[in-house]
Amino acid sequence: MSQLLPPAKFPRLSQSPGRVSKADLASVDHVIVVLPHKPTAGDWKAAPGSAQLRAAARRAEAGAVVHGRLDNKRGTGLSARRLPAGEPSRFELLSIAGELVAAALADQPRSLALLLPGLKEEHAQGMAEALLLAAHAHAFNMPEFKAKQAGHKKLGRIRLLGLPHRLDLKGTEIAARAQNLARWLTALPPNRLDAPAYRTLATALARQYGWKTRWLGESQLRKADAGAFLAVCQGNASRDAGILHLRYQPAKPGKLPPLALVGKGILFDTGGNNLKPHKSMLGMHEDMAGSAVALATLQALTESDYPRQVDCWLAITENRISAAAYKPRDVVTASNGVTIEVIHTDAEGRLVLADTLALAGREQPSLIIDYATLTGACVYSLTERYSGVFANRDDLHESLVSAGRRSGERVWPFPLDKDYDDALKSTAADVLQCSTEGSGDHILAARFLKRFVPDSSDWVHMDLSAASRKQGLAQVPGGATGFGVRWTLEFLQAGE
Ligand SMILES: [Zn+2]
Repeated sequence: MSQLLPPAKFPRLSQSPGRVSKADLASVDHVIVVLPHKPTAGDWKAAPGSAQLRAAARRAEAGAVVHGRLDNKRGTGLSARRLPAGEPSRFELLSIAGELVAAALADQPRSLALLLPGLKEEHAQGMAEALLLAAHAHAFNMPEFKAKQAGHKKLGRIRLLGLPHRLDLKGTEIAARAQNLARWLTALPPNRLDAPAYRTLATALARQYGWKTRWLGESQLRKADAGAFLAVCQGNASRDAGILHLRYQPAKPGKLPPLALVGKGILFDTGGNNLKPHKSMLGMHEDMAGSAVALATLQALTESDYPRQVDCWLAITENRISAAAYKPRDVVTASNGVTIEVIHTDAEGRLVLADTLALAGREQPSLIIDYATLTGACVYSLTERYSGVFANRDDLHESLVSAGRRSGERVWPFPLDKDYDDALKSTAADVLQCSTEGSGDHILAARFLKRFVPDSSDWVHMDLSAASRKQGLAQVPGGATGFGVRWTLEFLQAGE
């Protein structure tokens, strides 16, 4: 396996339904307890250290995490809180789970128990899923290249105690591992995750999962007249950019026609001749987050035996400055024949996606979803808490938003009306790459991309404003979020 893939070590989950014994509690280093908003006497009784907890809960503000330690030999740690009143959203549940797990892991436990006394069945399932996702996210060791590896998290075991019966959490574990893969890849340093290394690791995954692979290097892209993609990579130091096409073929295909996932994989974005300033460039190894989301989603769909062919297209290149780099006012031709007048070399994402979408579209998928850290305008509009979505059919909007609510990866749709094209009129070519003014750039970028998507395909474009957040997001600690993987799984599960 490629050394750049995360270690295949995950906390093992076991479930022990029924009454919780003292021995159960003493079998773990830490217990997380989630109680209803207004726990009954019976709920308190079912919580470990209940007298101690109740006293602490009375002192603590509503919604605060209460800490304690059980008086068993092990000194099992305890983190507990009550749920807020009403029906908390999925995002709130995930945020609560993240807060509890962070508190519990501060104790460096090797084993963790989850206990949900008094939660109604539907709340128990949701809370257990949220806690499991949070435990996977917080216990995961992100890439680190220190000579001396220190402070590694050791959580190896999670026990779900005291529920009336076992819950089905297989899908949650698959999603959690995939989200971590996306976070890991996004965080890798740009000199480690260069184009050859990315190919190597994706090929290793392809062998493991039985995906067919095809590499469209620069010479093949030249044959395909993919001039938009080639313009971006012509400033690179070596000729190793390209589009990686991975195909998952289900063992038992259902009736649904093929799906395509497309990801922007700019391994490092200097901005090109329109060079980025110091601080704006620091996060630019994360400009491949879209490709990481597409790849990780393919892994999750494969592990779930998704009954539909999935084609995954990763647009892999850097965007560098050099004497050969493309420049403003260049006119380039994409593989579908559309000519583009370059305006700003930092708007490279839409150029590589143009050709990648056009090539993906040739296979006539019924649905194309693309993921890209595409515009600052989307971050200004939504901040890093939401990602923006666009669709070529307005009637998709409701299902996009609802998949966001169900997954806790919240998205908001933006308009895609034709008259926005007025801002992309060029005198020299069919279309401007972007407007000379910045306003509405996320919308103009989506309008631009639409030209490369076949009308026969449903198309969803996700502008990943939530790809990375310093303060963390919901159950995920700070840094790369892997946002988009779980949204997609929810969206597809609902049959779009
Ligand atoms: Zn850029």
